[in-house]
Amino acid sequence: MTTAPPRPTTLDPEALRGDFAILETRIGDSPLVYLDSAATSQKPRAVIDAEVSFLTSANSAVHRGAHTLAAEATELFEDARAAVAGFVHAAPEQLVWTSGATAGINLIAYAIGNATLGRGGEPARRFALAPGDGLVVTEAEHHANLIPWQELAARTGAVLRHIPVRDDGTIDLEAAASVIGARTRVVAFPHVSNVLGIVNPVAELVALARAAGAITVLDACQSAPHLPLDLPALDVDLAVFSGHKMLGPNAIGGLYGRADVLEALPPFLTGGSMITTVTLDGAEYLPPPQRFEAGTQPVSQAIGLAAAVRYLDAVGMDAVHAHETALERRLRDGLRSIPGIRLLGDADAERVALAAFDVDGVHAHDVGQFLDARGIAVRVGHHCAQPLHRRFGLTASVRASAALYTTDAEIDEFLDAVSGVRGYFGVGR
Ligand code: PMP
Repeated sequence: MTTAPPRPTTLDPEALRGDFAILETRIGDSPLVYLDSAATSQKPRAVIDAEVSFLTSANSAVHRGAHTLAAEATELFEDARAAVAGFVHAAPEQLVWTSGATAGINLIAYAIGNATLGRGGEPARRFALAPGDGLVVTEAEHHANLIPWQELAARTGAVLRHIPVRDDGTIDLEAAASVIGARTRVVAFPHVSNVLGIVNPVAELVALARAAGAITVLDACQSAPHLPLDLPALDVDLAVFSGHKMLGPNAIGGLYGRADVLEALPPFLTGGSMITTVTLDGAEYLPPPQRFEAGTQPVSQAIGLAAAVRYLDAVGMDAVHAHETALERRLRDGLRSIPGIRLLGDADAERVALAAFDVDGVHAHDVGQFLDARGIAVRVGHHCAQPLHRRFGLTASVRASAALYTTDAEIDEFLDAVSGVRGYFGVGR
């Protein structure tokens, strides 16, 4: 019997940085300080190599053709599915490839719309919406987990409601208990908001949704790269995550679903590769995951994402989480101590290493330019979360976000620069 190697619990970011050549970049005279990983993460050499190696020696159409290369490509593609599914503790059939989280959420919303039109037969009736049924999101959504539900409501006559966020950035669970009601059919929410960084109370929200007979959709974009993620244990019905935020390539993401949910859900995109039999009048569909994978798939990207999760697993997600928790404290404590800084959602809660803030008297875009002139890359704007910014009385904020390769020294350099912003713009010390 073999025993699994112990999971690493600490990491040395300096040692990892050698795997990320881009981190050697200079911006003008300054070394790059990359604090925009929540927008997109950097990719280790192993991910780039995996894609290059596939394209160099195994590229072929998958699930088609009897030739050797096609068989090899199919095997690599399905191995990648197993690896990425395993990363979130799911079975391979529970992982549908998408082009990203936005595509995954749209897939779910359109599939529910199709069920509402009667597609998918008897098994899909559980998803069908009637006018006046409820769809529930939170006030802290990325637009990707808001607009598809607005559109679904507009197409079906369902009503979209939201759970408010408290001043400290936490989800108002008391309000959630009254917003989620007997007619609620879907509750969609972020595991971690891309603006607040707070880990939301998944178990409580799932319990409220279950009690109402609603399905749950988890946006795990900002948790998958930072925390050990066990989607079956979280007991959500459906979840999405995004490859490019978790060290993987662009244009690849995952849609996870409980087996019974995916089996009952009708397809969204239709065409080649998702069928068994086609006549001129109709078609029969493959079971999941292929039912949801019409057309030519992002094969090299899937293989790249598998290399990313293997890399994360080798570093150890417990170690990633521990390192980033320490970075988060350093970042938040530092920002709190700078006069004129207002943090959005400053609850003492479990978090990822991300902080969005307003600098009193200085526009976020000016702060971004000031930092960029010092080699520091942050995100400025509404971060695709306009309603949440409005909630905090802002149109824009500055967001710094770290990843496993971020060092204490980088956070300190960022804090030092931020403490000079108001003086530079003549609005404070
Ligand atoms: N949800 C959240 C919380 C995000 O941060 C993002 C990316 N900014 C998305 C959804 C959209 O993901 P993708 O880029 O994969 O479409």
